[in-house]
Amino acid sequence: MATFFGENDVMQRPRGTTSPEKDRIVSESQTARPRVLILGGTREGAELAARLSKRVNLTVISSLAGRVAELKLPEGPIRVGGFGGVDGLVSYLVNEKVAAVIDATHPYAARISLNVEIACSRTRLPLIALDRPPWDRLDGDRWHEVDDFERAAMFVNEKNARVFLSIGRQELAPFSACSNAWFLIRAIEKPTERLPQHHQLILQRGPFQLEDELQLLRDHAIDYVVSKNSGGPATYNKIVAARSLSISVVMIRRPLKHKAETVQTLEEVVAKLDLLIQNTGAS
Ligand code: NAP
Repeated sequence: MATFFGENDVMQRPRGTTSPEKDRIVSESQTARPRVLILGGTREGAELAARLSKRVNLTVISSLAGRVAELKLPEGPIRVGGFGGVDGLVSYLVNEKVAAVIDATHPYAARISLNVEIACSRTRLPLIALDRPPWDRLDGDRWHEVDDFERAAMFVNEKNARVFLSIGRQELAPFSACSNAWFLIRAIEKPTERLPQHHQLILQRGPFQLEDELQLLRDHAIDYVVSKNSGGPATYNKIVAARSLSISVVMIRRPLKHKAETVQTLEEVVAKLDLLIQNTGAS
Protein backbone atom coordinates (compact mmCIF):
# COMPACT_ATOMS: atom_id res chain seq x y z
CA MET A 1 0.00 0.00 0.00
CA ALA A 2 1.42 3.40 -0.92
CA THR A 3 1.90 5.97 1.81
CA PHE A 4 0.58 9.45 1.18
CA PHE A 5 0.61 11.51 4.36
CA GLY A 6 4.13 11.05 5.58
CA GLU A 7 6.51 8.40 6.74
CA ASN A 8 4.11 6.78 9.17
CA ASP A 9 0.83 7.52 7.47
CA VAL A 10 -1.24 5.10 5.50
CA MET A 11 -4.06 5.79 3.11
CA GLN A 12 -6.63 3.02 3.05
CA ARG A 13 -9.50 2.82 0.67
CA PRO A 14 -12.01 -0.05 0.69
CA ARG A 15 -11.98 -1.98 -2.55
CA GLY A 16 -15.05 -1.62 -4.74
CA THR A 17 -15.97 1.94 -3.75
CA THR A 18 -16.23 4.30 -6.67
CA SER A 19 -17.49 7.60 -5.32
CA PRO A 20 -15.05 9.73 -3.30
CA GLU A 21 -17.50 10.51 -0.46
CA LYS A 22 -17.61 6.80 0.35
CA ASP A 23 -13.85 6.71 0.58
CA ARG A 24 -12.13 6.50 3.87
CA ILE A 25 -8.67 7.95 4.21
CA VAL A 26 -6.98 6.79 7.36
CA SER A 27 -4.02 8.70 8.72
CA GLU A 28 -2.07 6.84 11.41
CA SER A 29 -0.47 10.08 12.51
CA GLN A 30 -3.22 12.38 13.75
CA THR A 31 -0.95 15.38 13.34
CA ALA A 32 -0.27 14.89 9.63
CA ARG A 33 -1.66 17.55 7.30
CA PRO A 34 -3.14 15.95 4.19
CA ARG A 35 -1.76 17.43 0.97
CA VAL A 36 -4.43 18.47 -1.49
CA LEU A 37 -3.59 19.23 -5.11
CA ILE A 38 -5.83 21.73 -6.92
CA LEU A 39 -5.60 21.58 -10.70
CA GLY A 40 -6.38 25.21 -11.40
CA GLY A 41 -5.79 28.02 -13.87
CA THR A 42 -9.36 29.18 -13.40
CA ARG A 43 -11.21 31.63 -11.16
CA GLU A 44 -12.63 28.68 -9.22
CA GLY A 45 -9.17 27.18 -8.73
CA ALA A 46 -7.91 30.46 -7.31
CA GLU A 47 -10.97 30.85 -5.07
CA LEU A 48 -10.54 27.34 -3.72
CA ALA A 49 -6.86 27.97 -3.06
CA ALA A 50 -7.74 31.19 -1.22
CA ARG A 51 -10.33 29.42 0.91
CA LEU A 52 -8.41 26.25 1.62
CA SER A 53 -5.01 27.87 2.21
CA LYS A 54 -6.46 29.33 5.40
CA ARG A 55 -7.05 25.84 6.79
CA VAL A 56 -4.52 24.77 9.36
CA ASN A 57 -5.39 21.12 8.80
CA LEU A 58 -4.40 21.06 5.11
CA THR A 59 -1.51 21.72 2.79
CA VAL A 60 -2.92 22.99 -0.49
CA ILE A 61 -0.87 23.11 -3.68
CA SER A 62 -2.19 24.74 -6.87
CA SER A 63 -1.08 23.44 -10.23
CA LEU A 64 -1.18 25.71 -13.29
CA ALA A 65 -0.53 24.80 -16.91
CA GLY A 66 1.50 28.01 -17.25
CA ARG A 67 0.20 29.09 -20.63
CA VAL A 68 -0.27 32.75 -19.76
CA ALA A 69 3.07 34.42 -19.08
CA GLU A 70 1.58 37.02 -16.76
CA LEU A 71 0.07 34.54 -14.34
CA LYS A 72 -2.35 35.68 -11.71
CA LEU A 73 -1.01 33.42 -9.01
CA PRO A 74 -3.35 31.76 -6.54
CA GLU A 75 -2.65 31.94 -2.81
CA GLY A 76 -0.42 29.31 -1.25
CA PRO A 77 2.18 27.01 -2.82
CA ILE A 78 2.00 26.56 -6.59
CA ARG A 79 3.62 24.42 -9.24
CA VAL A 80 3.62 25.40 -12.91
CA GLY A 81 3.71 23.38 -16.16
CA GLY A 82 2.52 20.02 -17.45
CA PHE A 83 3.25 16.82 -15.53
CA GLY A 84 4.22 14.81 -18.61
CA GLY A 85 0.99 12.91 -19.22
CA VAL A 86 -0.64 10.33 -16.97
CA ASP A 87 2.64 8.69 -15.94
CA GLY A 88 4.14 12.02 -14.93
CA LEU A 89 1.04 12.92 -12.97
CA VAL A 90 1.05 9.56 -11.19
CA SER A 91 4.71 10.09 -10.23
CA TYR A 92 3.94 13.58 -8.96
CA LEU A 93 1.01 12.40 -6.84
CA VAL A 94 3.07 9.63 -5.28
CA ASN A 95 6.32 11.60 -4.81
CA GLU A 96 4.54 14.60 -3.34
CA LYS A 97 2.38 12.41 -1.10
CA VAL A 98 -0.82 13.97 -2.35
CA ALA A 99 -3.86 12.72 -0.42
CA ALA A 100 -6.67 14.10 -2.61
CA VAL A 101 -7.04 15.98 -5.88
CA ILE A 102 -9.48 18.71 -6.86
CA ASP A 103 -9.96 19.20 -10.59
CA ALA A 104 -10.97 22.84 -11.03
CA THR A 105 -9.70 23.21 -14.59
CA HIS A 106 -11.54 24.99 -17.39
CA PRO A 107 -14.55 23.24 -18.98
CA TYR A 108 -12.64 22.97 -22.28
CA ALA A 109 -9.48 21.57 -20.70
CA ALA A 110 -10.46 17.96 -21.37
CA ARG A 111 -7.01 16.39 -21.60
CA ILE A 112 -5.87 17.20 -18.07
CA SER A 113 -9.23 16.02 -16.67
CA LEU A 114 -8.97 12.69 -18.44
CA ASN A 115 -5.38 12.34 -17.24
CA VAL A 116 -6.25 13.05 -13.64
CA GLU A 117 -9.14 10.58 -13.65
CA ILE A 118 -6.78 7.85 -14.83
CA ALA A 119 -4.00 8.93 -12.45
CA CYS A 120 -6.33 9.01 -9.42
CA SER A 121 -7.77 5.65 -10.33
CA ARG A 122 -4.24 4.17 -10.61
CA THR A 123 -3.10 5.65 -7.31
CA ARG A 124 -6.49 5.05 -5.69
CA LEU A 125 -6.69 8.68 -4.64
CA PRO A 126 -9.97 10.54 -4.15
CA LEU A 127 -10.76 13.02 -6.91
CA ILE A 128 -13.25 15.86 -6.55
CA ALA A 129 -14.15 17.14 -10.02
CA LEU A 130 -15.75 20.55 -10.38
CA ASP A 131 -17.82 21.15 -13.50
CA ARG A 132 -18.79 24.79 -13.87
CA PRO A 133 -22.41 24.92 -15.11
CA PRO A 134 -22.71 25.95 -18.77
CA TRP A 135 -24.75 28.97 -19.90
CA ASP A 136 -28.32 28.16 -20.84
CA ARG A 137 -29.89 29.44 -24.02
CA LEU A 138 -32.34 32.17 -22.97
CA ASP A 139 -35.21 33.91 -24.78
CA GLY A 140 -33.74 36.13 -27.46
CA ASP A 141 -30.53 34.12 -27.82
CA ARG A 142 -29.72 33.20 -31.43
CA TRP A 143 -27.32 30.32 -30.95
CA HIS A 144 -25.98 28.07 -33.66
CA GLU A 145 -24.34 25.20 -31.77
CA VAL A 146 -21.42 23.30 -33.31
CA ASP A 147 -19.29 20.42 -32.06
CA ASP A 148 -15.84 21.91 -32.47
CA PHE A 149 -13.69 24.87 -33.49
CA GLU A 150 -13.21 23.54 -37.04
CA ARG A 151 -16.96 23.53 -37.68
CA ALA A 152 -17.29 27.02 -36.22
CA ALA A 153 -14.56 28.27 -38.56
CA MET A 154 -16.16 26.67 -41.60
CA PHE A 155 -19.57 28.08 -40.71
CA VAL A 156 -18.54 31.73 -40.33
CA ASN A 157 -16.26 31.62 -43.35
CA GLU A 158 -19.10 30.38 -45.56
CA LYS A 159 -21.21 33.28 -44.29
CA ASN A 160 -18.53 35.87 -45.21
CA ALA A 161 -19.23 37.11 -41.71
CA ARG A 162 -17.77 39.86 -39.54
CA VAL A 163 -16.87 37.77 -36.53
CA PHE A 164 -15.99 38.51 -32.93
CA LEU A 165 -13.62 35.74 -31.89
CA SER A 166 -12.85 35.53 -28.20
CA ILE A 167 -12.08 31.88 -27.57
CA GLY A 168 -8.52 31.95 -26.25
CA ARG A 169 -5.38 31.97 -28.39
CA GLN A 170 -4.87 28.19 -28.19
CA GLU A 171 -7.88 27.55 -30.38
CA LEU A 172 -7.21 30.03 -33.19
CA ALA A 173 -5.52 27.61 -35.60
CA PRO A 174 -8.73 26.33 -37.28
CA PHE A 175 -9.64 29.94 -38.16
CA SER A 176 -6.32 30.72 -39.86
CA ALA A 177 -7.48 29.24 -43.15
CA CYS A 178 -10.62 31.41 -43.31
CA SER A 179 -10.15 33.79 -46.21
CA ASN A 180 -13.70 35.12 -46.56
CA ALA A 181 -14.66 36.10 -43.03
CA TRP A 182 -13.25 39.11 -41.13
CA PHE A 183 -12.28 38.59 -37.47
CA LEU A 184 -12.02 40.82 -34.46
CA ILE A 185 -9.78 38.64 -32.29
CA ARG A 186 -9.56 39.28 -28.56
CA ALA A 187 -6.92 37.50 -26.50
CA ILE A 188 -5.04 38.04 -23.24
CA GLU A 189 -1.65 37.67 -24.91
CA LYS A 190 -0.40 38.00 -28.47
CA PRO A 191 -1.16 34.72 -30.27
CA THR A 192 1.77 32.84 -31.76
CA GLU A 193 -0.50 30.89 -34.15
CA ARG A 194 -1.02 32.05 -37.74
CA LEU A 195 -4.02 34.36 -37.81
CA PRO A 196 -6.71 34.60 -40.51
CA GLN A 197 -6.04 36.81 -43.53
CA HIS A 198 -8.54 39.50 -42.50
CA HIS A 199 -8.41 40.38 -38.84
CA GLN A 200 -7.86 42.94 -36.12
CA LEU A 201 -6.30 41.90 -32.82
CA ILE A 202 -7.08 43.37 -29.41
CA LEU A 203 -5.22 42.27 -26.29
CA GLN A 204 -7.34 42.51 -23.13
CA ARG A 205 -8.05 40.50 -20.02
CA GLY A 206 -11.62 40.20 -18.69
CA PRO A 207 -13.97 40.50 -16.98
CA PHE A 208 -15.67 42.80 -19.50
CA GLN A 209 -18.50 45.21 -18.78
CA LEU A 210 -21.73 44.88 -20.73
CA GLU A 211 -21.57 48.48 -22.01
CA ASP A 212 -18.08 47.83 -23.41
CA GLU A 213 -19.16 44.59 -25.07
CA LEU A 214 -22.15 46.34 -26.68
CA GLN A 215 -19.93 49.12 -27.95
CA LEU A 216 -17.35 46.68 -29.33
CA LEU A 217 -19.96 44.68 -31.26
CA ARG A 218 -21.56 47.87 -32.64
CA ASP A 219 -18.27 49.64 -33.50
CA HIS A 220 -17.04 46.69 -35.54
CA ALA A 221 -20.42 45.88 -37.13
CA ILE A 222 -20.12 42.31 -35.86
CA ASP A 223 -22.69 39.88 -37.18
CA TYR A 224 -21.44 36.64 -35.53
CA VAL A 225 -19.87 35.98 -32.14
CA VAL A 226 -17.93 32.72 -31.86
CA SER A 227 -17.81 31.48 -28.28
CA LYS A 228 -17.11 28.51 -26.06
CA ASN A 229 -19.87 27.72 -23.60
CA SER A 230 -17.52 28.54 -20.73
CA GLY A 231 -20.21 29.29 -18.16
CA GLY A 232 -19.58 31.65 -15.25
CA PRO A 233 -19.82 35.43 -15.16
CA ALA A 234 -16.35 36.48 -16.44
CA THR A 235 -17.07 36.30 -20.18
CA TYR A 236 -20.87 36.16 -20.16
CA ASN A 237 -21.44 39.81 -21.08
CA LYS A 238 -20.51 39.17 -24.72
CA ILE A 239 -23.40 36.69 -24.84
CA VAL A 240 -25.76 39.21 -23.20
CA ALA A 241 -24.58 41.89 -25.64
CA ALA A 242 -25.17 39.60 -28.63
CA ARG A 243 -28.66 38.82 -27.33
CA SER A 244 -29.59 42.46 -26.94
CA LEU A 245 -28.27 43.34 -30.41
CA SER A 246 -29.87 40.22 -32.00
CA ILE A 247 -26.45 39.01 -33.11
CA SER A 248 -25.99 35.29 -33.71
CA VAL A 249 -23.62 33.29 -31.53
CA VAL A 250 -21.79 30.28 -32.92
CA MET A 251 -21.57 28.31 -29.69
CA ILE A 252 -18.94 25.56 -29.54
CA ARG A 253 -20.26 22.67 -27.49
CA ARG A 254 -18.25 21.48 -24.51
CA PRO A 255 -15.92 18.52 -24.90
CA LEU A 256 -16.58 15.40 -22.85
CA LYS A 257 -14.45 16.21 -19.84
CA HIS A 258 -15.34 13.90 -16.97
CA LYS A 259 -16.47 10.33 -16.77
CA ALA A 260 -16.43 10.54 -12.99
CA GLU A 261 -19.14 12.13 -10.90
CA THR A 262 -18.83 15.93 -10.75
CA VAL A 263 -20.02 18.76 -8.52
CA GLN A 264 -21.04 22.20 -9.71
CA THR A 265 -20.21 24.59 -6.89
CA LEU A 266 -17.26 25.49 -4.69
CA GLU A 267 -19.41 24.78 -1.64
CA GLU A 268 -19.90 21.19 -2.81
CA VAL A 269 -16.16 20.82 -3.37
CA VAL A 270 -15.42 22.04 0.15
CA ALA A 271 -18.13 19.82 1.66
CA LYS A 272 -16.72 16.75 -0.10
CA LEU A 273 -13.22 17.60 0.99
CA ASP A 274 -14.39 18.13 4.57
CA LEU A 275 -15.97 14.71 4.53
CA LEU A 276 -12.71 13.16 3.36
CA ILE A 277 -10.72 15.02 6.01
CA GLN A 278 -13.24 14.04 8.69
CA ASN A 279 -12.68 10.44 7.73
CA THR A 280 -8.91 10.85 8.02
CA GLY A 281 -9.25 12.16 11.55
CA ALA A 282 -6.78 14.89 10.52
CA SER A 283 -9.07 17.83 11.37
P1 NAP B 1 -5.81 20.56 -21.70
O1 NAP B 1 -5.89 20.55 -23.17
O2 NAP B 1 -6.75 19.75 -20.91
O3 NAP B 1 -4.34 20.21 -21.21
C1 NAP B 1 -3.23 20.03 -22.07
C2 NAP B 1 -2.04 19.73 -21.20
O4 NAP B 1 -1.68 20.89 -20.44
C3 NAP B 1 -2.29 18.65 -20.17
O5 NAP B 1 -2.19 17.36 -20.71
C4 NAP B 1 -1.22 18.98 -19.13
O6 NAP B 1 0.05 18.59 -19.61
C5 NAP B 1 -1.22 20.49 -19.15
N1 NAP B 1 -2.13 21.06 -18.14
C6 NAP B 1 -3.39 21.53 -18.31
N2 NAP B 1 -3.88 22.02 -17.17
C7 NAP B 1 -2.89 21.86 -16.25
C8 NAP B 1 -2.76 22.22 -14.87
N3 NAP B 1 -3.76 22.83 -14.20
N4 NAP B 1 -1.60 21.91 -14.24
C9 NAP B 1 -0.58 21.29 -14.90
N5 NAP B 1 -0.65 20.96 -16.21
C10 NAP B 1 -1.76 21.26 -16.87
O7 NAP B 1 -5.95 22.06 -21.13
P2 NAP B 1 -5.38 23.45 -21.66
O8 NAP B 1 -4.39 23.19 -22.75
O9 NAP B 1 -4.96 24.24 -20.48
O10 NAP B 1 -6.64 24.18 -22.24
C11 NAP B 1 -7.58 23.60 -23.13
C12 NAP B 1 -8.72 24.59 -23.38
O11 NAP B 1 -9.23 25.16 -22.16
C13 NAP B 1 -8.34 25.78 -24.21
O12 NAP B 1 -9.44 26.08 -25.01
C14 NAP B 1 -8.09 26.88 -23.22
O13 NAP B 1 -8.27 28.15 -23.77
C15 NAP B 1 -9.13 26.57 -22.19
N6 NAP B 1 -8.72 27.09 -20.90
C16 NAP B 1 -9.25 28.26 -20.47
C17 NAP B 1 -8.89 28.76 -19.26
C18 NAP B 1 -9.51 30.02 -18.74
O14 NAP B 1 -9.46 30.29 -17.55
N7 NAP B 1 -10.14 30.80 -19.59
C19 NAP B 1 -7.92 28.12 -18.48
C20 NAP B 1 -7.38 26.93 -18.95
C21 NAP B 1 -7.80 26.45 -20.16
P3 NAP B 1 0.71 17.19 -19.21
O15 NAP B 1 -0.04 16.15 -20.00
O16 NAP B 1 2.13 17.33 -19.60
O17 NAP B 1 0.51 17.00 -17.74
